[in-house]
Amino acid sequence: MIVNSARQSAVITEANHHKPSETSSVLHNLPKVELHRHLEGSLRIETLLSIALEYDITLPSVTAETLRPYVQLMPDEPRSMQQFLSKFAILRQFYRSEAIIKRVTREVIADAAADNIRYMELRFTPKALNNIVNRDYKEVINWVCEAAREAASANNIKVGLIVAMNRHESLDIALNAFEAALALREQGIVGVDLAGQEANYPVSLFRSLFERAQAEGLGITIHAGEWAGPESVRSAVEVGATRIGHGIRTIEDPELVQMLVERGIVLEVCPSSNVDSGAVLSLKDHPLEKLYTAGVRTTLNTDDPLISGITLSDEFARVMAQTALTLNDLKRMQILGARAAFLPSSERTALAVQFENWFFPPATQPLKPHDFAQT
Ligand SMILES: [Zn+2]
Repeated sequence: MIVNSARQSAVITEANHHKPSETSSVLHNLPKVELHRHLEGSLRIETLLSIALEYDITLPSVTAETLRPYVQLMPDEPRSMQQFLSKFAILRQFYRSEAIIKRVTREVIADAAADNIRYMELRFTPKALNNIVNRDYKEVINWVCEAAREAASANNIKVGLIVAMNRHESLDIALNAFEAALALREQGIVGVDLAGQEANYPVSLFRSLFERAQAEGLGITIHAGEWAGPESVRSAVEVGATRIGHGIRTIEDPELVQMLVERGIVLEVCPSSNVDSGAVLSLKDHPLEKLYTAGVRTTLNTDDPLISGITLSDEFARVMAQTALTLNDLKRMQILGARAAFLPSSERTALAVQFENWFFPPATQPLKPHDFAQT
């Protein structure tokens, strides 16, 4: 409680004495970076209804509010990976045409921009989008690229796209997506990701693919340390990941914590998602604060805003309410995020400087040294 009061005072001071009830608008107005958001977990419920009507898809329910429990975790539901993943089962039925894939891409980007996200890396799994349309991966990925460019310029947001592959699917499927991603770099693909069942499918199965990504200079982020322990994070770093999706179980291994600090590895932390999937019990139990305090470069992300029923601003508010982290800490995480963007180095530096100037204009307060260390 004492911690929360102190934190609340800090917010009020930083928000020019706004009342606590205005904290959410302060967070909403804050320019933000998001590095870890899945297209497939970010759709609008209203859009699902409209697509269902247009394409004659039978839904378990026909209004936004009654459909919500099928695609979003409700407060009284158990928190488990199985329950979390069950929400994607309905969503997978919707990718029926180029028009739909482009529409949902545009909307996800518009929604992020409306939350004042100024730079977002949006990831998507070509296989998931392609299950029904069944086209060449390059074609499907290019639809996302086209729609993303259009939405980014219409909504004053910079967007990079990450092609995700699943551990539990074959290397051939991953390779197919990877080749298409490489071929479409000029269209907006900035990196690759490995997601899916972490516990039973080691990253080493995909080593050859990440060696090529490194050689080609494609950004590498890997989901690790969520459903498997620190050794999974270590393996992801060994195959070349400079960013780790989640990585929260790093906290179990002090040597690994030190290694991440020394190498400047960035964790894309998604606290609400971790609670919703049962990976951690509650936000109060979440290792984010410990990792950040230990000097690990941590960033805050939503993962799947539809499933968790959140915006990135909501995520910031929850973290501030449940931990001792302050608004300044969250601002520092934004700068760390900008410095970890999968962009050419000059663009990445310009983005980070822009955020530094917004948050800590010269002659306010000094940043911690690690904020400025170059990756
Ligand atoms: Zn994720």
